[in-house]
Amino acid sequence: MQPRDLSALTPYEAGRGIEEVAREVGMDPADLVKLSSNENPHGPSPKAVEAMREHADGVHHYPKAAHADLQEALAERWDLSPEQVWLGNGGDGALDYLARAMLDPDDAILVPDPGFAYYAMSARYHHGRVETYPLYRSEDFEQRPEHVLDAYDGERVVYLISPHSPTGREIDRDAILEVADGVDDDTVVLVDEAYGVYSEAPSKADLVREREDVAVLRTFSKSHGLAGVRLGYLLTPAAWADAYARINTPFAVNELALRAGLAALEDHEHVERTVESAAWAREFIDETLTARTWPSQGNYVLAAVGDAEAVFEAAKERGVIVRDATSFGLPECIRITCGTRRETTRAVEVLNEVLAMRDPYAGTGTPGPAGGGGAGDTDEGGG
Ligand SMILES: *Cc1c(COP(=O)(O)O)cnc(C)c1O
Repeated sequence: MQPRDLSALTPYEAGRGIEEVAREVGMDPADLVKLSSNENPHGPSPKAVEAMREHADGVHHYPKAAHADLQEALAERWDLSPEQVWLGNGGDGALDYLARAMLDPDDAILVPDPGFAYYAMSARYHHGRVETYPLYRSEDFEQRPEHVLDAYDGERVVYLISPHSPTGREIDRDAILEVADGVDDDTVVLVDEAYGVYSEAPSKADLVREREDVAVLRTFSKSHGLAGVRLGYLLTPAAWADAYARINTPFAVNELALRAGLAALEDHEHVERTVESAAWAREFIDETLTARTWPSQGNYVLAAVGDAEAVFEAAKERGVIVRDATSFGLPECIRITCGTRRETTRAVEVLNEVLAMRDPYAGTGTPGPAGGGGAGDTDEGGG
């Protein structure tokens, strides 16, 4: 006796925990710098932590009131009605609800390549098919409407990411509108704003108010430091009415996550600090790393380092863990999460050391055999 044919489904490869890596390289976890999962380096919102403590002794009740309260608070924040706010178990859980609501068996979705792995996974769980549109390094990974529309063939959901992970590049409002206007009436455009808070551009949530074919994804995982409680949401068109009520797993989000979310929404200080430090870190990385980087509006920076796996391994041996972007289809790139000042400075120092060993010309201003491309003028990590 076996489950259904799962051969098209792939297990999610989570980055390894800090304890695990510490043991492997024989270091104290406290000495490791982990900048691989775009987590918030300042920890969770302190207000959220307090709220979870306060409500811990009420978890024998189902979380009915808190669910409605958070829907209402978010509806107010985005100027929508509560039923347009689809809370989920993380942004990923909210993406599942989108697939659940949209896909009949064999319906397809259209996703960017490179892009976020979970869109495809979720569609396949829901008996959907997956098609892709390309982003080109030669175009600095711009999500161009013509590439989306060239690839488009009646898919039910088209995914756009702004800022895009792992590249950090945004897609502007006009381009989103061009895609939304260019697809059939039966297609929804999902704008993933998992990193929206870090961007200087305004959210595209206003398009959810104005149109019937745009939805927006947000999450508390990064901006509010709540990755561990799993809390995210979708903003959906008013025309979808009670769809969420029909498809959501009863009590979609747990009581502590809901309490954390309600408190985190009021914690402007924590968000401000988070956004400011990410802006500092991405500029610092861009200026001092001796590798080609792309301008980012997220809390991470993509860098071209040649052999990503080798650079990842060498940095790990020195206690710095970054993300090898091979899993995104970019085997020559790493993605570095914006850490605290201390973490980010340390990471760049180690990476420059590793890069200099692999290409002694990097950062010297002399084109090296690897083709140069160093963005940095740095006096660190030479020789
Ligand atoms: C992190 C992330 C999400 C959602 O993550 P959750 O941890 O499930 O909230 C969605 N899209 C992108 C691009 C992400 O990086």
